Amino acid sequence: MIIIMEPSATQEQIKTVVNALHNKGFKTVLNHGDVMTVIAAIGDKRLIEPHSFQSYEGVRSVKLIQEPYKLASREGKSEDTVIEFSNGVRIGGLEKPVMMVGPCSVEKDLDGLLQVAAAAKEMGCQFLRGGAFKPRTSPYDFQGLEEKALEYLAIAREKTGLLVVTELMDTLDLDLVCNYADVIQIGARNMQNFKLLKAVGKCNKPIILKRGGAATIREFLLAAEHIMYHGNDKVILCERGIMGVDNTATRNTLDIAAIPVIKKYSHLPIIVDPSHGTGRRYLIEPMAKAGLIVGAHGVMMEVHHDPENASSDGAQSLSIPVFKDVAKRLNKLIGRIDYDNKHLIDKA
Ligand code: PEP
Ligand code: MN
Repeated sequence: MIIIMEPSATQEQIKTVVNALHNKGFKTVLNHGDVMTVIAAIGDKRLIEPHSFQSYEGVRSVKLIQEPYKLASREGKSEDTVIEFSNGVRIGGLEKPVMMVGPCSVEKDLDGLLQVAAAAKEMGCQFLRGGAFKPRTSPYDFQGLEEKALEYLAIAREKTGLLVVTELMDTLDLDLVCNYADVIQIGARNMQNFKLLKAVGKCNKPIILKRGGAATIREFLLAAEHIMYHGNDKVILCERGIMGVDNTATRNTLDIAAIPVIKKYSHLPIIVDPSHGTGRRYLIEPMAKAGLIVGAHGVMMEVHHDPENASSDGAQSLSIPVFKDVAKRLNKLIGRIDYDNKHLIDKA
């Protein structure tokens, strides 16, 4: 931690800060510049609230040097985390990127879901996604079929062997969702629902943690830290767009740079969701490709058997025939990316 004193700080004020740091068990190194004094404080900052030093007389600013997340950080674990499922599917590190597709919401037309699942299987996807409990902005919108939807997802898994991803919104539904899901999704709106993070931290299912719409990368990684702190290290991060300056051309601003940034600071797998990231069907393919090229470990896309009549997010869902075309091209791209050397393999 670095404490920068005001140019006008008195010797007495500097001494007060230094003494307070020593009392908390910190060592200090002082650098008296021409204009101001900088105090480097060395010690375990978890024992204090660093920003409390901001309130001392004569202090201009307090800067933290170490990232506050430990378990999610590369500083603590340099090798990539690879999460393995019972059917051998692996996600993370240098593994081939995965594809997760399915409707925003599981709806009462089971056959529609099975059509999507069959197409997903045919195109080499590993995961079927679908919401049973839906976090909707309006209480008048479709809220999800709850357990019925979970049953439908289980039927689709039975028929295709795809792994099931579904969102958990409430700790009260944890056991129910765990009974059906292979991966539990924590949605963007719940990224900082700390009770929910704690609850999934105590279960042994892999978790997809979506980035909050207004979350910094640091807040995102600290949310992952909550899950890991409670014992679950199987966390898959998902970049799904943040609030940008223009929500007319796109629903969110997909933060493509967040993918390599997160890979630099964290060992956890990170996937990209261009459906929620853009809100526009025609942007799914280009942004999925962008995500893959910068190193995403997977792509999550919304696919619906009848997007025009979907109960939620139809405008950002691919129809089945379009999905098949897109998946063909994504598979081709996936086959050409050399993740170790971070470039495209030239055609022979
Ligand atoms: C979803 O995946 O359907 C969803 C609601 O996503 P997000 O939490 O990213 O908005
Ligand atoms: Mn959706």
